[in-house]
Amino acid sequence: MDLKQYVTTVENWPKEGISFKDITTIMDNGQAYKYATDQIVTYAKELGAEVIVGPEARGFIIGCPVAYALEIGFAPVRKPGKLPREVVSVDYGLEYGQDTLTMHRDAIKPGQKVMICDDLLATGGTVEATIRLIEQLGGIVVGCAFLIELTELSGRGKIGSYPIKTLIEY
Ligand code: AMP
Repeated sequence: MDLKQYVTTVENWPKEGISFKDITTIMDNGQAYKYATDQIVTYAKELGAEVIVGPEARGFIIGCPVAYALEIGFAPVRKPGKLPREVVSVDYGLEYGQDTLTMHRDAIKPGQKVMICDDLLATGGTVEATIRLIEQLGGIVVGCAFLIELTELSGRGKIGSYPIKTLIEY
């Protein structure tokens, strides 16, 4: 299946100069959503993932059905103030300013094999911060899977040697 035809590009949204990749047109097509999920499930099996981690909010859309299919857990990465119990946090740089991501301190058990899922790899800042959170908790990041990669932004460079799978490239 050619998944790219189900992605909608919205130019200059949410601001001038951004070419936004809207994945809701993959999700609202049951066959396309299942096909994309199945590819990532296969990859997670190959890696031997024991838990899936996804950053809010679109990482949930990709990661949760993968966890469900494999009958393994899913741990959310969230902005500060959203998780109700003790968290670990990391600060990371954005184009202008900085942001923080958090995870529950007990979300990952030391030594657990973790795969990260998100909708899109752009600069790699979000996934790099997510890797740092998982490693703070003693987890082993076995790989990362994305629906879309914006290759021009060289996010792969930031992730270094961690295995990466992406289904659609721009
Ligand atoms: P980054 O941290 O730069 O790799 O950005 C990744 C995050 O930002 C992903 O979770 C995406 O949801 C979002 N994102 C960045 N650029 C785009 C884009 N052009 N279209 C849609 N989502 C984007």
